[in-house]
Amino acid sequence: MTLLRHTTDEIKPRKALTVNAAKTCQPVGAMYAALGIHRCLPHSHGSQGCCSYHRSALTRHYKEPVMAATSSFTEGASVFGGQANLLKSIETIFQVYDPDVIAVHTTCLSETIGDDIPQIVSKADDKGFIPEGKIVIHCNTPSYVGSHVTGFSNMVEGMVKYMSTKTDAESSRFNVIPGWVEPSDMRELKRLMNVLSLDTILFPDTSDVMDCPLDGTREFYPAGGTPLEDLKASGDAKATFALGAFGSKAAAETLQKKCEVPAELLDLPIGLRATDRFIDKVRTVAGIEVPDELTRERGRMVDLMSDMQQYFEGKRVALVGDPDQLIALSEFCADLDMRPVYIVSGTPGKVFEQTVLERLEERIPEVKIANGANADMFLLHQWIKQESVDLLIGNTYCKYISRDENIPLVRHGFPILDRVGHSQFPTVGYMGGIRLMEKMLDAILSTQDEECDEEKMELVM
Ligand code: SF4
Repeated sequence: MTLLRHTTDEIKPRKALTVNAAKTCQPVGAMYAALGIHRCLPHSHGSQGCCSYHRSALTRHYKEPVMAATSSFTEGASVFGGQANLLKSIETIFQVYDPDVIAVHTTCLSETIGDDIPQIVSKADDKGFIPEGKIVIHCNTPSYVGSHVTGFSNMVEGMVKYMSTKTDAESSRFNVIPGWVEPSDMRELKRLMNVLSLDTILFPDTSDVMDCPLDGTREFYPAGGTPLEDLKASGDAKATFALGAFGSKAAAETLQKKCEVPAELLDLPIGLRATDRFIDKVRTVAGIEVPDELTRERGRMVDLMSDMQQYFEGKRVALVGDPDQLIALSEFCADLDMRPVYIVSGTPGKVFEQTVLERLEERIPEVKIANGANADMFLLHQWIKQESVDLLIGNTYCKYISRDENIPLVRHGFPILDRVGHSQFPTVGYMGGIRLMEKMLDAILSTQDEECDEEKMELVM
Protein backbone atom coordinates (compact mmCIF):
# COMPACT_ATOMS: atom_id res chain seq x y z
CA MET A 1 0.00 0.00 0.00
CA THR A 2 2.62 2.44 1.07
CA LEU A 3 4.61 1.63 -2.05
CA LEU A 4 1.76 2.75 -4.27
CA ARG A 5 1.87 6.18 -2.64
CA HIS A 6 5.11 6.71 -4.56
CA THR A 7 3.40 6.28 -7.94
CA THR A 8 3.70 9.56 -9.78
CA ASP A 9 1.55 10.91 -12.57
CA GLU A 10 4.63 11.62 -14.65
CA ILE A 11 5.00 8.88 -17.26
CA LYS A 12 8.53 8.21 -18.46
CA PRO A 13 9.27 5.89 -21.40
CA ARG A 14 10.17 2.36 -20.21
CA LYS A 15 11.55 -0.51 -22.25
CA ALA A 16 12.99 -3.09 -19.89
CA LEU A 17 11.00 -2.65 -16.70
CA THR A 18 7.58 -3.99 -15.74
CA VAL A 19 6.11 -2.86 -12.43
CA ASN A 20 3.19 -4.87 -11.02
CA ALA A 21 2.57 -6.93 -14.15
CA ALA A 22 -0.96 -7.23 -15.51
CA LYS A 23 -0.46 -10.90 -16.39
CA THR A 24 1.04 -14.10 -15.08
CA CYS A 25 3.16 -16.82 -16.67
CA GLN A 26 2.23 -19.05 -19.61
CA PRO A 27 2.15 -22.45 -17.84
CA VAL A 28 -0.59 -21.23 -15.46
CA GLY A 29 -2.90 -20.98 -18.47
CA ALA A 30 -1.71 -24.27 -19.95
CA MET A 31 -2.42 -26.00 -16.63
CA TYR A 32 -5.91 -24.45 -16.37
CA ALA A 33 -6.75 -25.57 -19.91
CA ALA A 34 -5.47 -29.10 -19.24
CA LEU A 35 -7.69 -29.37 -16.15
CA GLY A 36 -10.62 -28.98 -18.55
CA ILE A 37 -9.97 -32.45 -20.01
CA HIS A 38 -11.68 -35.31 -18.17
CA ARG A 39 -9.22 -37.56 -16.30
CA CYS A 40 -6.23 -35.46 -17.35
CA LEU A 41 -3.15 -34.90 -15.21
CA PRO A 42 -1.33 -31.68 -16.16
CA HIS A 43 2.44 -32.10 -16.13
CA SER A 44 4.90 -29.26 -15.69
CA HIS A 45 8.21 -30.00 -17.43
CA GLY A 46 10.56 -27.98 -15.26
CA SER A 47 11.44 -27.47 -11.63
CA GLN A 48 9.20 -28.17 -8.65
CA GLY A 49 9.08 -24.46 -7.85
CA CYS A 50 7.38 -23.60 -11.15
CA CYS A 51 4.78 -26.33 -10.70
CA SER A 52 4.06 -25.25 -7.11
CA TYR A 53 3.54 -21.68 -8.22
CA HIS A 54 1.19 -22.62 -11.07
CA ARG A 55 -0.84 -24.91 -8.83
CA SER A 56 -1.11 -22.39 -6.04
CA ALA A 57 -2.08 -19.57 -8.44
CA LEU A 58 -5.01 -21.68 -9.66
CA THR A 59 -5.93 -23.04 -6.22
CA ARG A 60 -6.08 -19.55 -4.73
CA HIS A 61 -8.39 -18.31 -7.48
CA TYR A 62 -10.70 -21.33 -7.80
CA LYS A 63 -10.62 -22.42 -4.15
CA GLU A 64 -10.12 -26.01 -5.32
CA PRO A 65 -7.10 -28.31 -4.93
CA VAL A 66 -5.20 -28.45 -8.23
CA MET A 67 -3.42 -31.72 -9.00
CA ALA A 68 -0.41 -31.60 -11.32
CA ALA A 69 2.85 -33.50 -11.76
CA THR A 70 6.33 -32.13 -12.35
CA SER A 71 9.55 -33.33 -13.98
CA SER A 72 11.32 -32.09 -10.82
CA PHE A 73 14.41 -30.65 -12.47
CA THR A 74 17.52 -30.39 -10.33
CA GLU A 75 21.02 -29.30 -11.31
CA GLY A 76 21.59 -32.40 -13.48
CA ALA A 77 18.50 -31.87 -15.64
CA SER A 78 19.32 -28.19 -15.92
CA VAL A 79 22.68 -29.06 -17.48
CA PHE A 80 21.99 -32.26 -19.41
CA GLY A 81 18.32 -31.78 -20.30
CA GLY A 82 15.11 -33.18 -18.87
CA GLN A 83 14.57 -36.24 -21.07
CA ALA A 84 15.31 -38.80 -18.36
CA ASN A 85 13.04 -36.97 -15.90
CA LEU A 86 10.11 -36.80 -18.33
CA LEU A 87 10.44 -40.44 -19.37
CA LYS A 88 10.40 -41.54 -15.73
CA SER A 89 7.49 -39.19 -15.03
CA ILE A 90 5.34 -40.60 -17.84
CA GLU A 91 6.02 -44.16 -16.74
CA THR A 92 5.26 -43.42 -13.08
CA ILE A 93 2.19 -41.26 -13.68
CA PHE A 94 0.42 -43.92 -15.76
CA GLN A 95 1.36 -46.63 -13.26
CA VAL A 96 0.33 -44.72 -10.14
CA TYR A 97 -2.32 -42.16 -11.13
CA ASP A 98 -3.82 -43.81 -14.22
CA PRO A 99 -5.00 -40.69 -16.11
CA ASP A 100 -6.50 -40.88 -19.61
CA VAL A 101 -4.37 -37.94 -20.70
CA ILE A 102 -1.09 -36.42 -19.55
CA ALA A 103 -0.85 -32.80 -20.73
CA VAL A 104 2.77 -31.65 -20.66
CA HIS A 105 3.64 -27.99 -20.76
CA THR A 106 7.15 -26.62 -20.76
CA THR A 107 8.62 -23.90 -18.53
CA CYS A 108 11.30 -21.23 -18.91
CA LEU A 109 14.04 -23.66 -17.92
CA SER A 110 13.12 -26.58 -20.18
CA GLU A 111 12.61 -24.18 -23.09
CA THR A 112 16.02 -22.61 -22.52
CA ILE A 113 17.61 -26.07 -22.47
CA GLY A 114 15.68 -26.84 -25.65
CA ASP A 115 14.04 -30.14 -24.68
CA ASP A 116 12.20 -31.69 -27.63
CA ILE A 117 8.95 -32.90 -26.04
CA PRO A 118 7.46 -34.77 -29.05
CA GLN A 119 10.71 -36.73 -29.38
CA ILE A 120 10.67 -37.62 -25.67
CA VAL A 121 7.00 -38.63 -25.80
CA SER A 122 7.69 -40.78 -28.85
CA LYS A 123 10.53 -42.45 -26.93
CA ALA A 124 8.17 -43.07 -24.00
CA ASP A 125 5.77 -44.71 -26.42
CA ASP A 126 8.53 -46.88 -27.88
CA LYS A 127 9.43 -48.00 -24.37
CA GLY A 128 5.81 -49.00 -23.72
CA PHE A 129 5.25 -46.37 -21.01
CA ILE A 130 1.99 -45.11 -22.58
CA PRO A 131 -0.79 -47.69 -22.12
CA GLU A 132 -3.20 -48.52 -24.95
CA GLY A 133 -5.95 -45.91 -25.31
CA LYS A 134 -4.05 -43.28 -23.29
CA ILE A 135 -2.31 -40.26 -24.68
CA VAL A 136 0.37 -37.69 -23.85
CA ILE A 137 -0.13 -34.24 -25.37
CA HIS A 138 2.08 -31.19 -25.05
CA CYS A 139 2.47 -27.50 -25.72
CA ASN A 140 5.37 -25.07 -25.48
CA THR A 141 4.98 -22.38 -22.85
CA PRO A 142 8.21 -20.44 -22.30
CA SER A 143 7.24 -17.71 -19.93
CA TYR A 144 9.65 -15.08 -21.16
CA VAL A 145 7.11 -14.50 -23.93
CA GLY A 146 3.32 -14.29 -23.88
CA SER A 147 1.17 -14.59 -20.77
CA HIS A 148 -1.17 -17.02 -19.03
CA VAL A 149 -3.63 -16.38 -21.88
CA THR A 150 -1.20 -17.49 -24.59
CA GLY A 151 -0.34 -20.53 -22.45
CA PHE A 152 -4.04 -21.39 -22.30
CA SER A 153 -4.35 -20.92 -26.06
CA ASN A 154 -1.30 -23.08 -26.74
CA MET A 155 -2.64 -25.97 -24.67
CA VAL A 156 -6.08 -25.81 -26.34
CA GLU A 157 -4.36 -25.86 -29.71
CA GLY A 158 -2.34 -28.84 -28.44
CA MET A 159 -5.62 -30.67 -27.74
CA VAL A 160 -6.59 -30.22 -31.38
CA LYS A 161 -3.17 -31.19 -32.73
CA TYR A 162 -3.01 -34.41 -30.73
CA MET A 163 -6.62 -35.49 -30.36
CA SER A 164 -9.09 -34.07 -32.91
CA THR A 165 -9.63 -36.69 -35.58
CA LYS A 166 -11.53 -36.57 -38.83
CA THR A 167 -13.41 -39.75 -39.72
CA ASP A 168 -16.14 -40.40 -42.25
CA ALA A 169 -18.76 -40.45 -39.50
CA GLU A 170 -21.75 -38.12 -39.90
CA SER A 171 -21.92 -35.69 -36.96
CA SER A 172 -24.58 -33.23 -35.84
CA ARG A 173 -22.36 -31.72 -33.13
CA PHE A 174 -20.88 -28.24 -32.80
CA ASN A 175 -17.61 -27.32 -31.10
CA VAL A 176 -17.45 -24.40 -28.71
CA ILE A 177 -14.01 -23.24 -27.61
CA PRO A 178 -14.81 -20.98 -24.67
CA GLY A 179 -11.48 -19.22 -24.11
CA TRP A 180 -10.22 -18.56 -20.61
CA VAL A 181 -13.42 -18.07 -18.70
CA GLU A 182 -14.67 -19.28 -15.33
CA PRO A 183 -16.16 -22.76 -14.80
CA SER A 184 -19.48 -20.97 -14.25
CA ASP A 185 -19.16 -19.40 -17.72
CA MET A 186 -18.43 -22.78 -19.29
CA ARG A 187 -21.55 -24.18 -17.62
CA GLU A 188 -23.57 -21.20 -18.87
CA LEU A 189 -22.28 -21.66 -22.44
CA LYS A 190 -23.37 -25.30 -22.33
CA ARG A 191 -26.77 -24.21 -21.01
CA LEU A 192 -27.17 -21.68 -23.84
CA MET A 193 -26.31 -24.31 -26.46
CA ASN A 194 -28.71 -26.67 -24.73
CA VAL A 195 -31.51 -24.09 -24.85
CA LEU A 196 -30.76 -23.83 -28.57
CA SER A 197 -31.13 -27.65 -28.71
CA LEU A 198 -27.64 -28.15 -30.12
CA ASP A 199 -25.36 -31.07 -29.31
CA THR A 200 -22.14 -29.41 -28.19
CA ILE A 201 -18.53 -30.36 -27.59
CA LEU A 202 -17.13 -27.67 -25.33
CA PHE A 203 -13.38 -27.81 -24.83
CA PRO A 204 -11.78 -27.29 -22.49
CA ASP A 205 -14.49 -27.55 -19.86
CA THR A 206 -13.50 -26.83 -16.27
CA SER A 207 -17.04 -26.92 -14.86
CA ASP A 208 -17.34 -29.72 -12.29
CA VAL A 209 -13.55 -29.73 -12.09
CA MET A 210 -12.70 -26.33 -10.63
CA ASP A 211 -16.05 -25.84 -8.87
CA CYS A 212 -16.70 -29.29 -7.43
CA PRO A 213 -19.47 -29.89 -4.90
CA LEU A 214 -18.47 -30.84 -1.35
CA ASP A 215 -20.36 -34.12 -0.85
CA GLY A 216 -18.13 -36.08 1.48
CA THR A 217 -16.42 -38.06 -1.27
CA ARG A 218 -13.12 -37.36 -2.95
CA GLU A 219 -12.30 -38.29 -6.50
CA PHE A 220 -8.77 -37.75 -7.78
CA TYR A 221 -10.29 -37.01 -11.19
CA PRO A 222 -13.50 -34.98 -10.81
CA ALA A 223 -16.67 -35.66 -12.81
CA GLY A 224 -16.20 -32.74 -15.23
CA GLY A 225 -13.86 -32.06 -18.11
CA THR A 226 -14.17 -32.84 -21.81
CA PRO A 227 -13.83 -36.60 -22.36
CA LEU A 228 -11.09 -37.88 -24.66
CA GLU A 229 -13.75 -39.35 -27.02
CA ASP A 230 -15.36 -35.91 -27.41
CA LEU A 231 -12.02 -34.28 -28.11
CA LYS A 232 -11.40 -36.85 -30.84
CA ALA A 233 -14.93 -36.30 -32.19
CA SER A 234 -14.35 -32.53 -32.43
CA GLY A 235 -12.68 -33.30 -35.78
CA ASP A 236 -16.04 -34.43 -37.21
CA ALA A 237 -18.11 -31.50 -35.89
CA LYS A 238 -20.18 -29.33 -38.22
CA ALA A 239 -18.52 -26.08 -37.11
CA THR A 240 -16.43 -24.53 -34.34
CA PHE A 241 -17.44 -21.40 -32.47
CA ALA A 242 -14.21 -19.95 -31.11
CA LEU A 243 -14.80 -17.33 -28.43
CA GLY A 244 -11.99 -14.82 -28.20
CA ALA A 245 -9.14 -14.16 -30.61
CA PHE A 246 -6.49 -14.53 -27.93
CA GLY A 247 -7.73 -17.67 -26.17
CA SER A 248 -9.44 -19.71 -28.88
CA LYS A 249 -8.53 -18.60 -32.40
CA ALA A 250 -5.37 -20.69 -32.76
CA ALA A 251 -7.13 -23.94 -31.85
CA ALA A 252 -10.11 -23.25 -34.13
CA GLU A 253 -7.88 -22.43 -37.09
CA THR A 254 -5.74 -25.51 -36.52
CA LEU A 255 -8.90 -27.62 -36.34
CA GLN A 256 -10.11 -26.10 -39.59
CA LYS A 257 -6.79 -26.86 -41.25
CA LYS A 258 -6.43 -30.34 -39.82
CA CYS A 259 -10.01 -31.64 -40.05
CA GLU A 260 -11.81 -29.11 -42.27
CA VAL A 261 -14.19 -28.06 -39.49
CA PRO A 262 -15.29 -24.50 -40.39
CA ALA A 263 -14.16 -21.98 -37.76
CA GLU A 264 -16.34 -19.06 -36.66
CA LEU A 265 -14.36 -16.53 -34.63
CA LEU A 266 -16.39 -14.44 -32.20
CA ASP A 267 -15.83 -12.22 -29.18
CA LEU A 268 -16.46 -13.62 -25.73
CA PRO A 269 -20.24 -13.23 -25.29
CA ILE A 270 -19.97 -10.69 -22.48
CA GLY A 271 -22.52 -7.87 -22.67
CA LEU A 272 -25.59 -7.43 -24.83
CA ARG A 273 -24.09 -6.97 -28.27
CA ALA A 274 -21.42 -9.64 -27.99
CA THR A 275 -24.04 -12.13 -26.73
CA ASP A 276 -26.38 -11.14 -29.56
CA ARG A 277 -23.59 -11.75 -32.07
CA PHE A 278 -22.85 -15.15 -30.54
CA ILE A 279 -26.49 -16.29 -30.51
CA ASP A 280 -27.08 -14.95 -34.00
CA LYS A 281 -24.00 -16.66 -35.43
CA VAL A 282 -24.98 -19.98 -33.84
CA ARG A 283 -28.53 -19.54 -35.15
CA THR A 284 -27.30 -18.83 -38.68
CA VAL A 285 -24.69 -21.57 -38.87
CA ALA A 286 -26.95 -24.22 -37.32
CA GLY A 287 -30.02 -23.05 -39.26
CA ILE A 288 -32.29 -22.87 -36.22
CA GLU A 289 -34.78 -20.50 -34.59
CA VAL A 290 -33.95 -18.78 -31.30
CA PRO A 291 -36.40 -20.07 -28.68
CA ASP A 292 -38.62 -17.68 -26.68
CA GLU A 293 -36.82 -18.65 -23.49
CA LEU A 294 -33.66 -16.93 -24.74
CA THR A 295 -35.50 -13.95 -26.19
CA ARG A 296 -37.12 -13.38 -22.78
CA GLU A 297 -33.72 -13.56 -21.06
CA ARG A 298 -32.45 -10.94 -23.46
CA GLY A 299 -35.49 -8.78 -22.78
CA ARG A 300 -34.84 -8.88 -19.03
CA MET A 301 -31.27 -7.71 -19.63
CA VAL A 302 -32.40 -4.86 -21.90
CA ASP A 303 -35.01 -3.85 -19.30
CA LEU A 304 -32.37 -3.61 -16.58
CA MET A 305 -30.03 -1.66 -18.88
CA SER A 306 -32.80 0.80 -19.54
CA ASP A 307 -33.87 1.07 -15.86
CA MET A 308 -30.35 1.69 -14.61
CA GLN A 309 -28.88 3.71 -17.48
CA GLN A 310 -29.21 6.93 -15.46
CA TYR A 311 -26.64 5.64 -12.94
CA PHE A 312 -24.19 4.30 -15.52
CA GLU A 313 -24.29 7.30 -17.83
CA GLY A 314 -21.01 9.22 -18.06
CA LYS A 315 -19.17 7.12 -15.46
CA ARG A 316 -15.46 6.88 -16.27
CA VAL A 317 -14.15 3.31 -16.08
CA ALA A 318 -10.64 1.80 -16.01
CA LEU A 319 -10.34 -1.82 -17.08
CA VAL A 320 -7.38 -4.15 -16.65
CA GLY A 321 -7.11 -7.85 -17.40
CA ASP A 322 -7.11 -10.37 -20.22
CA PRO A 323 -7.57 -9.18 -23.80
CA ASP A 324 -10.62 -11.23 -24.81
CA GLN A 325 -12.41 -10.15 -21.64
CA LEU A 326 -11.49 -6.49 -22.11
CA ILE A 327 -12.58 -6.36 -25.76
CA ALA A 328 -16.09 -7.45 -24.81
CA LEU A 329 -16.23 -5.61 -21.47
CA SER A 330 -15.20 -2.25 -22.91
CA GLU A 331 -17.91 -2.52 -25.57
CA PHE A 332 -20.46 -3.42 -22.88
CA CYS A 333 -19.44 -0.44 -20.73
CA ALA A 334 -19.81 1.89 -23.73
CA ASP A 335 -23.24 0.38 -24.50
CA LEU A 336 -24.26 1.26 -20.93
CA ASP A 337 -23.26 4.86 -21.69
CA MET A 338 -20.23 4.58 -19.44
CA ARG A 339 -16.85 5.85 -20.57
CA PRO A 340 -14.19 3.10 -20.63
CA VAL A 341 -11.22 5.48 -20.69
CA TYR A 342 -8.25 3.29 -19.63
CA ILE A 343 -7.81 -0.25 -20.94
CA VAL A 344 -4.70 -2.23 -19.98
CA SER A 345 -3.73 -5.83 -20.67
CA GLY A 346 -0.38 -7.48 -19.94
CA THR A 347 -0.92 -9.96 -22.78
CA PRO A 348 0.88 -8.95 -25.99
CA GLY A 349 -0.83 -8.99 -29.39
CA LYS A 350 -1.11 -6.40 -32.12
CA VAL A 351 -4.82 -6.85 -32.78
CA PHE A 352 -5.84 -5.85 -29.26
CA GLU A 353 -5.87 -2.08 -29.62
CA GLN A 354 -7.37 -2.21 -33.08
CA THR A 355 -10.20 -4.53 -31.96
CA VAL A 356 -11.05 -2.44 -28.89
CA LEU A 357 -11.21 0.69 -31.05
CA GLU A 358 -13.46 -1.08 -33.56
CA ARG A 359 -15.87 -2.16 -30.81
CA LEU A 360 -15.95 1.31 -29.28
CA GLU A 361 -16.89 2.80 -32.67
CA GLU A 362 -15.30 6.19 -31.96
CA ARG A 363 -17.69 6.68 -29.03
CA ILE A 364 -14.82 7.18 -26.55
CA PRO A 365 -12.26 9.40 -28.31
CA GLU A 366 -10.34 9.95 -25.06
CA VAL A 367 -9.68 6.21 -24.53
CA LYS A 368 -6.11 5.17 -23.67
CA ILE A 369 -5.19 1.58 -24.53
CA ALA A 370 -1.99 -0.33 -23.71
CA ASN A 371 -1.02 -3.98 -23.86
CA GLY A 372 2.13 -6.08 -23.69
CA ALA A 373 4.95 -6.34 -21.19
CA ASN A 374 5.09 -2.64 -20.30
CA ALA A 375 1.32 -2.33 -19.94
CA ASP A 376 1.24 -2.91 -16.22
CA MET A 377 -0.68 -1.88 -13.10
CA PHE A 378 1.86 0.91 -12.55
CA LEU A 379 0.97 2.51 -15.88
CA LEU A 380 -2.74 2.17 -15.11
CA HIS A 381 -2.20 3.83 -11.75
CA GLN A 382 -0.28 6.67 -13.40
CA TRP A 383 -3.12 7.29 -15.84
CA ILE A 384 -5.56 7.30 -12.91
CA LYS A 385 -3.33 9.75 -11.05
CA GLN A 386 -3.48 12.06 -14.07
CA GLU A 387 -7.26 11.91 -14.24
CA SER A 388 -9.27 9.64 -11.98
CA VAL A 389 -12.15 7.28 -12.80
CA ASP A 390 -15.46 6.38 -11.16
CA LEU A 391 -15.03 2.63 -11.39
CA LEU A 392 -12.20 0.14 -11.65
CA ILE A 393 -12.73 -3.32 -13.14
CA GLY A 394 -9.96 -5.87 -12.78
CA ASN A 395 -8.43 -8.61 -10.68
CA THR A 396 -7.56 -8.65 -6.99
CA TYR A 397 -4.33 -6.72 -7.48
CA CYS A 398 -6.44 -3.66 -8.30
CA LYS A 399 -7.49 -3.41 -4.66
CA TYR A 400 -4.34 -1.44 -3.86
CA ILE A 401 -5.10 1.22 -6.49
CA SER A 402 -8.75 1.13 -5.47
CA ARG A 403 -7.91 1.86 -1.85
CA ASP A 404 -5.18 4.34 -2.60
CA GLU A 405 -7.34 6.37 -4.97
CA ASN A 406 -10.71 5.70 -3.27
CA ILE A 407 -12.25 4.17 -6.41
CA PRO A 408 -14.89 1.41 -6.23
CA LEU A 409 -13.61 -1.91 -7.59
CA VAL A 410 -15.49 -4.67 -9.40
CA ARG A 411 -13.40 -7.81 -9.27
CA HIS A 412 -13.30 -9.52 -12.64
CA GLY A 413 -10.76 -11.71 -14.41
CA PHE A 414 -7.78 -13.67 -13.11
CA PRO A 415 -6.71 -13.90 -10.38
CA ILE A 416 -9.33 -13.13 -7.77
CA LEU A 417 -7.73 -14.15 -4.51
CA ASP A 418 -9.82 -12.35 -1.91
CA ARG A 419 -13.45 -12.95 -2.89
CA VAL A 420 -15.69 -15.82 -4.04
CA GLY A 421 -18.49 -16.03 -6.59
CA HIS A 422 -16.46 -15.67 -9.78
CA SER A 423 -16.33 -19.42 -10.30
CA GLN A 424 -19.99 -19.90 -9.35
CA PHE A 425 -21.87 -17.16 -11.22
CA PRO A 426 -21.36 -16.56 -14.95
CA THR A 427 -20.66 -13.25 -16.62
CA VAL A 428 -21.24 -14.54 -20.17
CA GLY A 429 -24.61 -14.52 -21.91
CA TYR A 430 -27.63 -12.44 -20.99
CA MET A 431 -27.78 -13.76 -17.42
CA GLY A 432 -24.07 -13.03 -17.05
CA GLY A 433 -24.64 -9.50 -18.33
CA ILE A 434 -27.33 -8.99 -15.70
CA ARG A 435 -24.91 -10.13 -13.00
CA LEU A 436 -22.17 -7.81 -14.27
CA MET A 437 -24.57 -4.87 -14.21
CA GLU A 438 -25.63 -5.78 -10.69
CA LYS A 439 -22.00 -5.82 -9.55
CA MET A 440 -21.13 -2.53 -11.26
CA LEU A 441 -24.26 -0.80 -9.97
CA ASP A 442 -23.70 -2.08 -6.48
CA ALA A 443 -20.17 -0.66 -6.48
CA ILE A 444 -21.21 2.70 -7.95
CA LEU A 445 -24.32 3.20 -5.81
CA SER A 446 -22.66 2.04 -2.58
CA THR A 447 -19.96 4.65 -3.12
CA GLN A 448 -22.60 7.26 -3.84
CA ASP A 449 -24.44 6.35 -0.62
CA GLU A 450 -21.21 6.60 1.37
CA GLU A 451 -19.95 9.84 -0.10
CA CYS A 452 -22.94 11.99 -1.02
CA ASP A 453 -24.10 14.93 1.11
CA GLU A 454 -26.73 13.99 3.68
CA GLU A 455 -29.49 15.94 1.96
CA LYS A 456 -28.78 14.06 -1.28
CA MET A 457 -29.06 10.59 0.27
CA GLU A 458 -31.76 8.75 -1.68
CA LEU A 459 -33.79 5.84 -0.32
CA VAL A 460 -35.18 4.81 -3.70
CA MET A 461 -32.81 4.55 -6.64
S1 SF4 B 1 7.99 -17.47 -15.14
FE1 SF4 B 1 9.14 -19.28 -15.86
S2 SF4 B 1 10.48 -19.81 -14.11
FE2 SF4 B 1 8.85 -18.48 -13.32
S3 SF4 B 1 7.22 -19.86 -12.60
FE3 SF4 B 1 6.73 -19.29 -14.72
S4 SF4 B 1 7.63 -20.94 -15.95
FE4 SF4 B 1 8.60 -21.05 -13.93
